[in-house]
Amino acid sequence: MVRRSVYPEYDEGIPWFMVGQKFQRIIECPLDEEYFHFWFHPELGHYTWSHARDGRQIVGVGFPAGGDIDVYHKRVETYLHEKHGVRLEPPDDREGCAHNFGPSVINRYVFGKGNVLITGQAAGFFNVLAEGMSCALHSGAIAGESVIDAIHRNRPVQEVYRRHTVSEVNRCTDQWNIFKIIFVNPHEADFKAALRKLGIGKQAAVLKDLAKFLPIYGRFNWGRQILSQSLRRAITGKYSKDRWL
Ligand SMILES: Cc1cc2nc3c(=O)[nH]c(=O)nc-3n(C[C@H](O)[C@H](O)[C@H](O)COP(=O)(O)OP(=O)(O)OC[C@H]3O[C@@H](n4cnc5c(N)ncnc54)[C@H](O)[C@@H]3O)c2cc1C
Repeated sequence: MVRRSVYPEYDEGIPWFMVGQKFQRIIECPLDEEYFHFWFHPELGHYTWSHARDGRQIVGVGFPAGGDIDVYHKRVETYLHEKHGVRLEPPDDREGCAHNFGPSVINRYVFGKGNVLITGQAAGFFNVLAEGMSCALHSGAIAGESVIDAIHRNRPVQEVYRRHTVSEVNRCTDQWNIFKIIFVNPHEADFKAALRKLGIGKQAAVLKDLAKFLPIYGRFNWGRQILSQSLRRAITGKYSKDRWL
């Protein structure tokens, strides 16, 4: 609501996703309960995951806004049953909401205007596995420090916040940066190390799955923007601040 009142046109200009999770008591579940499981599967949805929590299994789905969560969820539940032997009781709880996945991917954050500072997911912060909590905490802390700093130095708070928040922008957008993904490891989940542990045949199968999965994001036109922002970061060491609102 705050973002919309500061930038009324913003919400129409970005793609929206729905993300929902259902909680189900476990009858049988061979998935390792120590792990967060994610499926790169174009027919299941844009973001499909499952993990155990407090004796229940969470089955989560993310898809473009307008889709039906029950349809997506059922599809994943059937898939888990057929492919992994997962048997679950009907959901006894659910939660979910609309999500703005794109801004951190393409460095299009919204930090506010005048004395209004926007933080967390409303500002567009989202880590690569759609974890928004750590960046929400960091950017909230940075906003608080910026207010104090702006008062002490008698500077406009937007200017101070935008300067201080660069560290969080770099940390977050680096996780989507193609060169960082290939040449360094911008996230603690070391996908490349896990891939290397597999035999050649399985590595090829995973990469083939990835290649089939990524095109479902094609309609959002993020590829070229990721590339140009990644190049900019490689050459200048920074992401472009001109792209922020
Ligand atoms: C199903 C699901 C699973 C997720 N799993 C994970 C996970 O495992 N790990 C992870 O890191 N992230 C996860 N996320 C993402 C994470 O929850 C969010 O990115 C994070 O909570 C964002 O924090 P925030 O403080 O920016 O915003 P929010 O948590 O959305 O908080 C904003 C608050 O502002 C309130 N509010 C809005 N408008 C007003 C107003 N006008 N006046 C007063 N209050 C207002 C809202 O009610 C809300 O309480 C998940 C998200 C979903 C939907």
